[in-house]
Amino acid sequence: MRIVLISTPMGFLGSGKGGGVELTLNSLVSGLLSLGHSVEVIAPKNSKLYVSNEKVKLHFVEGKDQISWQHQNYNSPVIIPDDSLLAGMLEKGLDIAKKADVLLNMSYDWLPIWMTLNVEIPIAHIISMGSESSVINNLISKVYAKRPYNFAFHSKIQAYDYPFVKKPIIIGNGFKLDNYTFQDSVKGPLAWVGRVAPEKGLEDAVFVANELGEKLKVWGVIEDKSYASKIEQSFPQGTIDWMGFLSTYELQKELGKCRVLLNTPKWNEAYGNVIVEALACGVPVIAYKRGGPSEIIQHGQTGFLVDPDDKKNMLSYVEIIEKIKRKKCREWVEKNASTDIFANKVLNWLNKVIHEYK
Ligand code: UDP
Repeated sequence: MRIVLISTPMGFLGSGKGGGVELTLNSLVSGLLSLGHSVEVIAPKNSKLYVSNEKVKLHFVEGKDQISWQHQNYNSPVIIPDDSLLAGMLEKGLDIAKKADVLLNMSYDWLPIWMTLNVEIPIAHIISMGSESSVINNLISKVYAKRPYNFAFHSKIQAYDYPFVKKPIIIGNGFKLDNYTFQDSVKGPLAWVGRVAPEKGLEDAVFVANELGEKLKVWGVIEDKSYASKIEQSFPQGTIDWMGFLSTYELQKELGKCRVLLNTPKWNEAYGNVIVEALACGVPVIAYKRGGPSEIIQHGQTGFLVDPDDKKNMLSYVEIIEKIKRKKCREWVEKNASTDIFANKVLNWLNKVIHEYK
């Protein structure tokens, strides 16, 4: 299959601004290549793919980023800036896709979804968030009524955010296992990984660390500086150990030394890449039962699921985390979330999409 991928219009690949989509795109490219398919990627200038994906043709586009939908009001209108990166990527994508089978859009935004019914080439969308905007929700509903196969979701719970989607296509996500080394460090520190922004609930993990009289190691882009400093000021100095945003290789090396990852989403997390990355290193995860994490974590086997916002319960599970066998965590990823498993699910889906256009 010849596939043209459109990246997120939020920062270049490798910047961390695009959140989980950056890793998902790389995993998908790896899986598609290993299964012998042809892939081209349209991405913002300065983007870098994993070294193992370097064979792929990467087309750069310059322009202004979109505003992230999760940081606007639910009823905000669509804003497309002058010199729009998204419009530029779509223009290039449509041109290159003339010789391809499908254009695969990974940006959560209005314009590519609107184009679905207005161009001849099949445009398939990986929806990477829950319902975060009424204008996008209503547009997906309209397009879905005519082209239900053109949308895929990472988890069932994420798809439930779109009530008109009756039989969601669920593709999960994929992780290149060679990129993660298993470590058996049962006595390590507490970890938290993610974009530092209100929807990720960092404050609850800091609460747990503080109650235990420990430090919390935090990796990720500080997207919202005032939110970050507000949390810092609410707890004793030094409770948060800011580790910065690292490449996957550096991140897994450090994360693997931790005894548990705390995951505290305040929104309907579409999937939760960081959970699987921790598991791949052998690190069990304690997460709120909200969104994707509840479909990934096997309660009592690879970590624990806690009622949303119940910090005290999270704390009590940290105290018994050694009951989880770290090998089981890694095994779950090998059996359920490799790049090949992911790419196969995506290919089955794209075959259905293409078939509908014949
Ligand atoms: N991440 C990273 N380096 C860091 C911290 C995070 O590469 O130091 C990446 C991580 O690998 C993951 C992404 O940031 O792929 C966060 O994705 P997730 O699905 O957890 O949440 P999102 O940001 O998409 O809401």
